[in-house]
Amino acid sequence: MSRFLAPRLQALDAYTPGEQPRDMVYTKLNTNESPFAPPQAVIDAVSAAEVADLRLYPDPTCRQLKEKLAATYGVKAENVFVANGSDDILNFAFMAYSGNGVTYPAISYGFYSVYAALYGAAAVEVPLKEDFGIDPADYFAARGMVVIANPNAPTGIALSLDQVESIVAANAENVVLIDEAYVDFGGESALPLIDKYDNLLVVRTYSKSRSLAGARLGFAFASPAIIADLEKIKYSTNPYAINRLTLVAGHAALEAEDYYKNCCAEIIKNREDTALKLRELGFSVLPSCANFLFAKHESISGAEIYAGLKQRGVLVRHFSKPLIADYNRITIGTKEDMQRLIAALQELIGGRK
Ligand code: PMP
Repeated sequence: MSRFLAPRLQALDAYTPGEQPRDMVYTKLNTNESPFAPPQAVIDAVSAAEVADLRLYPDPTCRQLKEKLAATYGVKAENVFVANGSDDILNFAFMAYSGNGVTYPAISYGFYSVYAALYGAAAVEVPLKEDFGIDPADYFAARGMVVIANPNAPTGIALSLDQVESIVAANAENVVLIDEAYVDFGGESALPLIDKYDNLLVVRTYSKSRSLAGARLGFAFASPAIIADLEKIKYSTNPYAINRLTLVAGHAALEAEDYYKNCCAEIIKNREDTALKLRELGFSVLPSCANFLFAKHESISGAEIYAGLKQRGVLVRHFSKPLIADYNRITIGTKEDMQRLIAALQELIGGRK
């Protein structure tokens, strides 16, 4: 840290992304990426001609992509925002709406507490229920903006649309942000509610179900007034945040909905098969609607499972927060990825007996 850093940033505990080690080739089940490549149409869209056009700035309004998203999801273009990954949208929302504080689950996406600290927002972290679910009633008299990942991460547990609506309705004076990064793997989207509630902001990403984590593309749906707020921040920070190649890849991806639906169906199948096998090996596994499982072993610690898997070439994500330190978050990959995971666990657990 230099002596020039603003005092309010000196104590900031930055977000720690999942590790990307280069010492060997791992079966990478630690950052919830898709195991499937994007479809050929997306790869073709990033053409030599588009690359040659990189000398030109991209369209800062992202008009074509917004119109395509609007048509795909049955909303108006004025209800759509696009950004450089959904992290950017979360960042903008905290910047804009956390002035009166922010309320989110104590166990959730780790970036929420980082953004709260970045903007000096008073943060209320609401404990989960004993079964790791979210009780909507805990958010009915919430302080400031409400942020809920649905399905939640790292638990994978989802709220129903009725439960989400009850939270949105109870917080009419504040923005309720529903982070739907994992909704395509079995959750229910709050998108149908955006015309009814002007305080609802639904945030989505291309990083998980659309196999484009490396392209950095996030999108959001809300009332035109909320979208205008987010545009204002984008135009006050980085209007060209979405590059030309990502714009065309994002457009082409929306024309390949069937391909992605099949990928999601395969991941859901692999998730359920893996949950079964993990239970046979002595794990308790939370009921997941996401592209990952959150699991703890009856007799081996979470840290030991993590280290033993890494040693055997399988990367999963371990969090050291005391309440969840017994667990690991395991991204769902291909059938072969999951076979490698189970084989490594059999060896690890067998070696302990
Ligand atoms: N929300 C949740 C709950 C996430 O797990 C992630 C991925 N780490 C994000 C948002 C951010 O995704 P991206 O910026 O890649 O769109």
